[in-house]
Amino acid sequence: MQGTIQQPEERELVGLQDGGHHYLTCNNCRAYLVDVWVTNPSLLDPITKTSIVTIVQAANCPFCEQGGSYPVEIHGGFHPGGYSPLKEGEDEDTIPSTFIELPEVAEDGVVRFVVKKQYPDSKAFYVK
Ligand SMILES: [Zn+2]
Repeated sequence: MQGTIQQPEERELVGLQDGGHHYLTCNNCRAYLVDVWVTNPSLLDPITKTSIVTIVQAANCPFCEQGGSYPVEIHGGFHPGGYSPLKEGEDEDTIPSTFIELPEVAEDGVVRFVVKKQYPDSKAFYVK
């Protein structure tokens, strides 16, 4: 039996819009902690038909162990992730980056991300 190999289709991400990034930084040492990418800025609540607003916050800072971020309002749908400034060809062992654990939604409605260092020996990045 002879099969044919099909080329993968070029597909676009449907329904996602680049609404920009919000970077949550440590309020103590100013390290970059979380990258919140707004992917559906015009997302509406299906019942109230009003814009969805979510308050997000980094619960901790893995670099100074003392801070976290201030709460930030995010409008629309978003994808949260760790912060990584890595560019092609850079050594990932020397570039600090973070990842996040599943967020907790506190009783006050704030979505809090627990932040971890991707590379234990890395130093923090600072806001310029
Ligand atoms: Zn910090």
